[in-house]
Amino acid sequence: MTEHDYEAKLMSLSFPKPDPYGSLSMPVYHTLAYEFATAEEMEAAFCGRTTEHTYSRVTNPTVQHFEERVRTVTGAYGVTALSSGMAAISNTFFSLAWSGSNIVTSRHLFGNTYSFFVNTLRAFGVEVRFCDLTDPVDVAAHLDADSCALFVEVITNPQMEVADLKVLSSLVHERNIPLVADTTIVPFTTFRAGDFGVDIEVVASTKYISGGATSLGGLIIDYGKFDWKHSPRLRSMAGESPSAFHYKLRREIHRNLGAYMTPEVAYMQSLGLETLQVRFERQAATCKALAGRLQSLTDIETVCYTGLEDNPSFEVSQQQFGDYPGAMLTFDLASKERCYGFLNKLKLIRRATNLFDNRSLIIHPASTIYGSFTPEQRMAMDVKENTIRLSVGLESTDALFEDICQALN
Ligand SMILES: *Cc1c(COP(=O)(O)O)cnc(C)c1O
Repeated sequence: MTEHDYEAKLMSLSFPKPDPYGSLSMPVYHTLAYEFATAEEMEAAFCGRTTEHTYSRVTNPTVQHFEERVRTVTGAYGVTALSSGMAAISNTFFSLAWSGSNIVTSRHLFGNTYSFFVNTLRAFGVEVRFCDLTDPVDVAAHLDADSCALFVEVITNPQMEVADLKVLSSLVHERNIPLVADTTIVPFTTFRAGDFGVDIEVVASTKYISGGATSLGGLIIDYGKFDWKHSPRLRSMAGESPSAFHYKLRREIHRNLGAYMTPEVAYMQSLGLETLQVRFERQAATCKALAGRLQSLTDIETVCYTGLEDNPSFEVSQQQFGDYPGAMLTFDLASKERCYGFLNKLKLIRRATNLFDNRSLIIHPASTIYGSFTPEQRMAMDVKENTIRLSVGLESTDALFEDICQALN
C-alpha cells in the first residue's frame, strides 16, 4: 500500500465495535457486510451457532435495535421488521400457507391485501375463503383442516367493521388454526393484540409508527403462543425453536424474499416509536370529538367511527380498543359528485392517501385505492361511491371542523 493509495487506506479502517462514543440514540449502521477475526468465527455465525451479523439482508444492528424495542413494548416472542406493510403480510403468508391450503377472511380488506390473496396467492394454489367475520357460525363453516390461518383486520376500512377477537380466537384455537391480525389501525401501545388471542400481528409501520410519513415499513410480531406442531407446513420445524413460525420466517422466507427494512428506515421509525402513544392519543381524541360534531351536519348522511355510541361496533370496539379506536373515520355525502366538490374545496385537510400522518389526510376510496376494482368487486367489498375517508392528524378539532364546514358549503 503506497502513501497515496487512498482507497486501500480507507478500506483498511474498520468501524470499532462496540460503539465507542456512548451515543444515546442508535447509530445508523450503513453497512452491508460484517468482518470476522477468524474463519472459525465466520463459520459459526453463518451456520447460526452465534448471533453475529453476517449480511444486512439477514440482520443489521440498527434494524435489530428497532425490532428489539418493539419486542420490549409488545412482550412478543419475536419481531421482524420489513420494507412495507405488504411485505409483512406477504412474508407471513409465504411462511404459513401451502399449496392446497386456504385462508379464511372477510371481503372487507385493504386493497392490496385483497389483491395479494386473490391474485398472487391463488397462483400458488392457496384458496381464499370470504366470510362474515362478525358471524362466528359463518366463520366456523369456512374453516377446515386445510385452513392455514384466519386473517382479520381489527377495524376494516372504509367499512369500519370490528370482529370480536376473543370469540374468533377461541373458535380457531379449538381447531388448532392460528389467528393473524392486521392491527395497523390501532397501535400496539393501546391495543394489546396478544391478550385477545392474536398469534401473529402484522402492522404497516408506514402509518402510525413512522408518524411524519417519512418511510414505508412493516412488522411481523409473533406472540409465540401457537403450537406449530399442528401446522402441516411448519410441523417439521416445531422442535427447532419455541416458535417454528419465527424460525421459518427468519431462516428462510425473510432472507429469500429479501424485503428487509433498511437501517435509515429503522432509525426514523425508531424515533417514531418514541412519540407514538402521545401522537395517537391526541389524534384519536380529536377524531372522536370531530366525529361527534360531524354528525350534527345535515349535508353529511352518516358518520362512521366505532367510538361513537350509535355505531353498530361500539361495544366490541370499546372492549378491544378502549375509548379511542384509532384516528380514522369515514362519512357519506349524497353522491360521488358531491364528494368531489367537497374534496376540491378543502384548504387545510390534504388530499392524499396514507393514514396517521401528522397532517390530516382525506381520500375518496372507491375512485383511488379501489379504483382498479370492478364495480361488482367494490359492491361486494362494501366500498361505496359516496364515502369519504378522513385520517385525523395533529391539527385542532376546531380547525378541522371549520375546514370541513366551509368545503361543504
Ligand atoms: C397501509 C396498509 C397496509 C399496507 O402497508 P404498506 O406499508 O403501504 O405496504 C396494510 N394494511 C392496512 C390496514 C393498511 O392501512
